Amino acid sequence: MRHVAIIGSGPAGCYLADQLLRVVPQASVDILEKLPVPFGLIRYGVAPDHQSTKLVSRVFDRVLGRETVGFFGNVEVGRDVRLAELMDLYNAVVLATGAERDRRLGTSGEELPGVIGSGAFVNWYNGYPDAQAPAVNGVRSAVIIGNGNVAIDVARILAKGPDEFAGSDLSTEVLHWLKSQPLETIRVVGRRGASDAKFTDHELAELGTLRRAQPLVSDATNLTGDSAVVKTLRGFRDGTHHDQPIAISFHFHLVPSAFVGDGRLCAVQFRNADGVTVELPAELAVTCIGYESVAICGVAPAKGVFANQDGRIDERLYVVGWAKRGPSGTIPTNRVEAQQLAQKIAREVGDDQRPGGDGLRRLLKERGVSWVDYAGWRRIDAAELAGVGAERSRVKLDSIEEMLDVAASGQLKAV
Ligand SMILES: Cc1cc2nc3c(=O)[nH]c(=O)nc-3n(C[C@H](O)[C@H](O)[C@H](O)COP(=O)(O)OP(=O)(O)OC[C@H]3O[C@@H](n4cnc5c(N)ncnc54)[C@H](O)[C@@H]3O)c2cc1C
Repeated sequence: MRHVAIIGSGPAGCYLADQLLRVVPQASVDILEKLPVPFGLIRYGVAPDHQSTKLVSRVFDRVLGRETVGFFGNVEVGRDVRLAELMDLYNAVVLATGAERDRRLGTSGEELPGVIGSGAFVNWYNGYPDAQAPAVNGVRSAVIIGNGNVAIDVARILAKGPDEFAGSDLSTEVLHWLKSQPLETIRVVGRRGASDAKFTDHELAELGTLRRAQPLVSDATNLTGDSAVVKTLRGFRDGTHHDQPIAISFHFHLVPSAFVGDGRLCAVQFRNADGVTVELPAELAVTCIGYESVAICGVAPAKGVFANQDGRIDERLYVVGWAKRGPSGTIPTNRVEAQQLAQKIAREVGDDQRPGGDGLRRLLKERGVSWVDYAGWRRIDAAELAGVGAERSRVKLDSIEEMLDVAASGQLKAV
């Protein structure tokens, strides 16, 4: 029996568990997850109004439910157990820890209230445990820095009216904050040209279907090229302009140079292609410029990812997903990568007798660490889905304590 520990239960970790069991059917796989709940960015990244994308978690759920897979939720490697201990217990260990830290621009004023990284902002609207609402109110103008799909998600969430969130799992607190902002303008700003934008056309085009917002491109923008994205942007520029209360405008060739404000954000300054400073008013700025991995028990990433050779960091230590390649690609990209890594592990890892999950359970018990197993996760899932309807597809528990109570008993503790 080969015992493999996977750290992280996002798409990379879940796909890898599945693939490993296909190529080494006699293997046993344990997935350690620092949160009590699984699925990483499927739960806390993918937008709450894109429930069909989140459906892939049903596939992952079936993986976690398999007899030869163990789920250890609420176990953080580095806090509850050390990487070296896992290396002793398992034949192979895989980092599938993602890239959870927001990249910073490093420009002045970035710490002003009103400036927020997309990781923090997305965590908040997705109900990540104990995540905080933006520290500002009265937002009329928002600036979104970045030209990828996360920037589009953020623009769409800000722009939608409450009735457009029917069927999502957005919380009432988040809805309330969004509803109470007097938003008029959302500016999506890229440092390069429209033809370099990393949006996918489908996500971009969706902005043209919103009820209370209209996407616009200023006439001055040079929209050269014939990619689907550029064509959609041309459509935004040339289309009929209605009287929607919110304008989503696209700006290109602007490099951020400073966040300006006295005690809170008032404007974002950029330098244009001619070196001239352009100032855009904003009470909220969301930087969507990517993510980087964080160190784990002394294994440190370089340039945001863990150095590796085709997924191998060291003997019996591997990496997969965003921790391996950085924040790029879609959910299926992780599947292809997992297939390749599973085959590599099958070729390279032998079966020297190690205790695997039995040893981990013993260690955690000795330490008094209580973990959430698959049955515990199912109880949380059932509690979140109880009584939901057309209005809301899930009511997420948003505190670790509540999750642990429900995992243990199926019920929230009475207060
Ligand atoms: C805002 C946003 C929206 C997105 N929307 C889409 C979309 O609509 N469609 C699409 O195809 N892709 C989307 N993606 C991309 C997709 O989410 C990623 O490709 C995928 O999640 C990467 O998987 P991963 O497993 O490498 O990382 P993650 O999903 O981040 O999973 C990593 C897991 O590791 C856990 N972990 C970290 N450190 C530890 C530790 N020390 N101990 C234990 N556990 C740990 C984390 O809690 C997390 O659960 C989106 C990404 C973002 C950021």
